[in-house]
Amino acid sequence: MRLHSFPGGLRLPGHKDASRAGGLQAVPMPPELHLALQQHAGLPALPCVLPGERVARGQCLARADGEFSADLHAPCAGRMLAIAPGDPSAPPGRQGAHLVLACEGDDTVAPWPALDPATASPDALRERIRAAGLVGLGGAGFPTAEKLSVGRDLLVLNGAECEPWIACDDALLRHHAEEVVLGGRMLARIVGAPRVLLAIEDSMPEALAAARAACDAHGEGVVEVVSVPTIYPEGGERQLIRVLTGREVPRGGLPRDLGVIVQNVGTARAAWRAVAHGEPLLERIVTVTGPGVARPGNFIVPLGTPVSHLVAQAGGYTPQARRLLLGGPMMGLALPHDGFAIGKPDNCVLVLGDAELRPAGDEMPCIRCGDCASACPARLLPQQLLWQVRADRLDDAREQGLFDCIECGCCDLACPSHIPLTAHFRHGKSELRARAVETERAHAARERYETRLQRLQREAAEREQRLAERRAGAASADAVAAALERARARRAAGTEGGTDA
Ligand code: SF4
Ligand code: SF4
Repeated sequence: MRLHSFPGGLRLPGHKDASRAGGLQAVPMPPELHLALQQHAGLPALPCVLPGERVARGQCLARADGEFSADLHAPCAGRMLAIAPGDPSAPPGRQGAHLVLACEGDDTVAPWPALDPATASPDALRERIRAAGLVGLGGAGFPTAEKLSVGRDLLVLNGAECEPWIACDDALLRHHAEEVVLGGRMLARIVGAPRVLLAIEDSMPEALAAARAACDAHGEGVVEVVSVPTIYPEGGERQLIRVLTGREVPRGGLPRDLGVIVQNVGTARAAWRAVAHGEPLLERIVTVTGPGVARPGNFIVPLGTPVSHLVAQAGGYTPQARRLLLGGPMMGLALPHDGFAIGKPDNCVLVLGDAELRPAGDEMPCIRCGDCASACPARLLPQQLLWQVRADRLDDAREQGLFDCIECGCCDLACPSHIPLTAHFRHGKSELRARAVETERAHAARERYETRLQRLQREAAEREQRLAERRAGAASADAVAAALERARARRAAGTEGGTDA
């Protein structure tokens, strides 16, 4: 198969071997789970259990609020302790409320009856995937059922795990490639795609071999394994589509505009298990790695497990541990503490040491070298965007494609002046979103004010009219009384005149 290149990108030193050696291990249940109500792209889910209530493993704890939200289920049996307020020190987007579940007992809700992925209707399959609370496990957290609602010509299974330390998809493919292939075929059936490409980076030879064997056994000529070169950020949807098809998702557009859908390999497997085994999404594979942990590995982690518990399973912190990240070194979120809990989109806990960190305060002025633009996979001009964001010319930055920035961090790494460009772009985007919300609020307030003003004017006019009518009525009553008076007077005068005649 002919592959294509995408603009920019970087070849980064690989570190997947660090956690590969630890294999795939199940994490014992911690004493408590902290389940965030927002583990997906849309509105937070709404709790449907109360503090003090006993729950069974697999029971629904919170219901989706709207089409981009997702249900949340209990990864273990236990007792609901509280609906805890958010943690303001958590990274943006992760600061909301969470359910605290004490893990006790082993009662389990009976799984849903299995559906036959080959004969169940696409609507029934999609509904099962929705009920399982499934969201994209590659990091975006977009509800899977929603993404499957539009027909496509091509399904891409994304196993191009391009962040250098993350190896959870690699572990998944090495151990569960058959379920990934079966899940891929089922997802393709839902969206009517005749073809599935399972893309895996060439730095994952064991995963490639396992996927090829699974394809031979279960691919039925529909699923094809494609080895793609290891270039960061090839796992980005747009970059992977470009590599596989040579086509580019238009600026401001979506893969669906090209008739393509991209699903993470973990999502495909979880969808298969929801349908063929009746299981809601209760756990995921997480890489715990970096020089700051003693025994890096890949772990099967119940959702809501605190990072501290996970790091303890990986042998605890080493003396080198300096910075804790949720995600990879390029796109990961810095965590202020390890009490934070694993959610559906979280694929890695990375503990870096001094050697991996840039010294603080080494930023220098831009020398207009253009290295950031050469590295940008989104064909942006980061130095120009930087100037616009710093000058608060955010509308200009938006015009120049600020929202096409995938926050991959390539420009940061390429910049000889060590300018944290991505942080500026992240800030610019959140500022624009906040302003849009503010504008929307002001617009709604103005509409409310104008509606109220119109109502008051209408009521005043109606009052005035009623008054005028009453006055007119009173005037006409006076006129009638005067006329009667005159008639009486005339009659009296006429009587007198008749006598005279
Ligand atoms: S962070 Fe944004 S601007 Fe920088 S290289 Fe990536 S896509 Fe381009
Ligand atoms: S790489 Fe850094 S120094 Fe060079 S143009 Fe971009 S922002 Fe400026």
